[in-house]
Amino acid sequence: MSRATVHFLLRSDLERLFTTLTDNQYEIIGPTVKDGAVLYTPIQHSEQLPQGWQQLQAPGAYRMTRDNSQRYFAWANGPQALKPWLFAPREIIWQAERQPDGSLQFSEPAQPDRKLAFIGLRNCDLAALKLQDQHFLQGQYRDPYYAARRKGLLLIAVNCSHPADTCFCASTGDGPHAKADSEQPGFDLCLTELDDGFLVQSGSEPGDQLLEQLPVSPTTENQLHQQLQQALQAAKQQRALPSLPIKDLLAERRDHPQWDDIAERCLACGNCTQVCPTCFCHAEGEQVSLNSAVSEHTREWASCFSEGHGYMAGHQARPGIRERYQQWMTHKLSYWHDQYGRSGCTGCGRCTTWCPAAIDFPLEVSRICGDDE
Ligand code: SF4
Ligand code: SF4
Repeated sequence: MSRATVHFLLRSDLERLFTTLTDNQYEIIGPTVKDGAVLYTPIQHSEQLPQGWQQLQAPGAYRMTRDNSQRYFAWANGPQALKPWLFAPREIIWQAERQPDGSLQFSEPAQPDRKLAFIGLRNCDLAALKLQDQHFLQGQYRDPYYAARRKGLLLIAVNCSHPADTCFCASTGDGPHAKADSEQPGFDLCLTELDDGFLVQSGSEPGDQLLEQLPVSPTTENQLHQQLQQALQAAKQQRALPSLPIKDLLAERRDHPQWDDIAERCLACGNCTQVCPTCFCHAEGEQVSLNSAVSEHTREWASCFSEGHGYMAGHQARPGIRERYQQWMTHKLSYWHDQYGRSGCTGCGRCTTWCPAAIDFPLEVSRICGDDE
């Protein structure tokens, strides 16, 4: 089968995708509704997907709603997608154990060897994965923990049909549809959900093999037309980053009064950095047992909003919330370009949805970079 060819899978055959993955020894990680949000967890069957669920998202607000729709993927995103599965929120890097003769024995935890298939990923999250790959795998220091989890991952994307009001991926170029036309589309399989089933396209050799095992049929003109209409509709998003030289303007406008305005509202809670799929900052520390026999060296997610993150050699580099918010936004949209060749924002909108102070990230960019300085 050619990769450019799109196939059709009946809605009633979606379960076949699950059984095929299981038959090929994959553990399936998919979206499911838990604790009032869409979360990626281990699932075994299509009935565990969020069928009939939609979302209302706004600055500082996230609510799941449900109707009789048969659709499984009529929602935009939850607080997390891939990041916690590859870059663990907290993990032991190594541990030292005191031996009876007083010497110390050092050991590293065994690396996981799981064959994971993710289903339901949006293109903004695949774009974020590419950025995390750049950081953890392609720099001078390759991260063995991330690399072990990244190896052999099977990625099944779903084109976004219902972006949230906080999404702005169309303006960053990272969505709402997966880029099937590039040489490295970033997915193994990509699904477009229609009312009666799914359009399916492969993006890799593992995707080709999977597709050969599914009961797909040729698509009709009408289905391809529906896909196009859905894509055009999804690209009409309420929010957007302004079409301005944001990289330079943010770096130049460090004295803009809007930074003070933001600092008055921002709680420095760090939610935005925790939900952001591209943030990679972390802190390391020691956890020693009460009898001092074992010491664990841990790594856990950190945030540029915490006081300790800006503390270096007796000096606090970012004493106030103004400086911390400025660090967060200018890193993401300005000097990330120098580090990694593009911006660090994929327009997923999570930082706006999950901000308890309802700070609207793209709106603040427009206020700082706009002409009315
Ligand atoms: S900065 Fe905000 S919108 Fe951009 S990738 Fe991070 S969480 Fe998503
Ligand atoms: S911008 Fe919002 S989410 Fe981020 S630290 Fe400030 S209050 Fe918390």
